[in-house]
Amino acid sequence: MEFYNIKTNRIFTPLRRYAWLFILLVAVGGLWIPKFGLLMIPIMFSLMILGMLKGKYWCGNICPHGSLFDGIIMPVSRNIKLPAFLRSKITLVLMFTWFMYMLGSRLAKVISIWGTTPFIDKLGYIFVVNYLVVTILGTILAILVSPRAWCRICPMGTMQILFYKLGKLLKLNTKFDEKVTIADKDMCHICGKCARVCPMQLTPYLEFDSNNQFSHEHCIRCQTCVKNCPAGILSINTEKEIHTIQKIYENDIKTKPEKIIAIVDEIIELNNDTREYVLKLIKPASINFKAGQFVLLKIQDNPVMYRAYSISKYKEGKLSITIKKVPNGYGTNIIFNNIKIGDQVTLKGPMGDTMVIKNPSAEKLLFVAGGIGITPFLPMTEEALNNNAGEIKLIHGVNYIDELIYNQHFTKLMKENRNFEYIPVVAIDEKWSGKRGLVTDVMKELDLTQYKIYMCGSPAMIKACLDLLIEAGVEEENIYYETA
Ligand SMILES: Cc1cc2nc3c(=O)[nH]c(=O)nc-3n(C[C@H](O)[C@H](O)[C@H](O)COP(=O)(O)OP(=O)(O)OC[C@H]3O[C@@H](n4cnc5c(N)ncnc54)[C@H](O)[C@@H]3O)c2cc1C
Ligand code: SF4
Ligand code: SF4
Repeated sequence: MEFYNIKTNRIFTPLRRYAWLFILLVAVGGLWIPKFGLLMIPIMFSLMILGMLKGKYWCGNICPHGSLFDGIIMPVSRNIKLPAFLRSKITLVLMFTWFMYMLGSRLAKVISIWGTTPFIDKLGYIFVVNYLVVTILGTILAILVSPRAWCRICPMGTMQILFYKLGKLLKLNTKFDEKVTIADKDMCHICGKCARVCPMQLTPYLEFDSNNQFSHEHCIRCQTCVKNCPAGILSINTEKEIHTIQKIYENDIKTKPEKIIAIVDEIIELNNDTREYVLKLIKPASINFKAGQFVLLKIQDNPVMYRAYSISKYKEGKLSITIKKVPNGYGTNIIFNNIKIGDQVTLKGPMGDTMVIKNPSAEKLLFVAGGIGITPFLPMTEEALNNNAGEIKLIHGVNYIDELIYNQHFTKLMKENRNFEYIPVVAIDEKWSGKRGLVTDVMKELDLTQYKIYMCGSPAMIKACLDLLIEAGVEEENIYYETA
């Protein structure tokens, strides 16, 4: 399970990128010029005020140590699960008490020389030493455990939590406190990615409150979960903004996913790392499914986790999902190693309306698939053909020939339907005698403004296609896409 925690780029602002330079000034420069340590006094005050209004916002957005751990140490961090003692409230209280005692006793000593020349330097030196100690301890934990391991027990973090509680009591933070917010719990893929990328190793997807907000006091408001949620349903908002968020997503929330119990009926090896799992539905025995939708497949119970897969086929109570094994992929390794013919599996769905064809009889439809992104286009092509679409083009881009997993199916369909064209395009494989290059190379040959365009593939492929479509002047309302 060592690949559970994902190292994800958490540098989203210049301040987070370069704040660590401040450590050089105080913790290193302060050894020669102790007055630099005095900078910590206004910082501690602003930290208290921010804590009162916005919880541990400082830690995720401004803290120089956070910037050091995320930006510099992360690549060499073991990034393993936090041991229980670092999650424990007892450690947190002990650390805070020790820190306050050390700071307090040193300050008491220095106060006794108030008014003398060395007073200022001695006062500054106390903060310099504290800053240096935090840097050393934090860096050791960041390397040996995870980048933000220290942040679970940092006394400055605890101070923010205490002031946050005070802010809550005085009702000061409702206007300013921005928390991770989920647009609608029914749209969640339960994939756990928000937990896997969370630097504080929290589990937002399991803990959204009745207000659809994540109120964990250790949340540092870094937005890493927001940026990485594959469903794009997370945002960071105050309590007052929730209704606006829900309004934005109102139109997307159409079907409530149902629990489905199925038995694995067949496993078809499509190539070395791709399998089609044919699932016989048990309860319910059939589903209402729209071409382009996906289901969630449960991969584990504790913590509960699913993976999203487009429905590639559905006929008479049998549903197929086609899965490509990801090297070191957490979920696909569980699926490929553990799920066998005859096993009972739990699904949720069907869900997702992005790829459902808005007008299947539209004059011209262009489908663009990258690699395993071909899966939703099996039922979508059938749907468009059944609805007499004027012209349907399907471009499937892959690196190697064996990734053209439904080549035969689509070639046959093309022979049978004059209005359907299947264009496989291969990027790397020398053995391929057909079209060479990327999907964008084929797209460039078309008048793209003529089509309703549906795309599914890697984020990189989707980005390249979107750039091309924007350049070609295609209206936004004619573009639909999903990343697989
Ligand atoms: C709507 C939808 C439909 C989908 N349909 C399909 C489909 O039909 N077929 C299909 O095969 N897939 C599909 N997917 C993708 C699928 O849901 C899974 O994401 C995929 O199977 C990989 O899961 P995993 O847990 O094995 O990979 P993960 O472990 O979640 O890894 C995902 C990515 O993160 C990277 N990663 C993992 N660990 C680390 C690390 N420590 N450091 C850096 N990077 C890391 C991996 O390289 C990989 O690129 C779909 C996704 C969505 C959202
Ligand atoms: S829950 Fe999200 S915002 Fe909060 S610390 Fe984790 S990744 Fe950052
Ligand atoms: S879809 Fe995945 S990342 Fe997004 S909230 Fe749900 S579990 Fe978290």
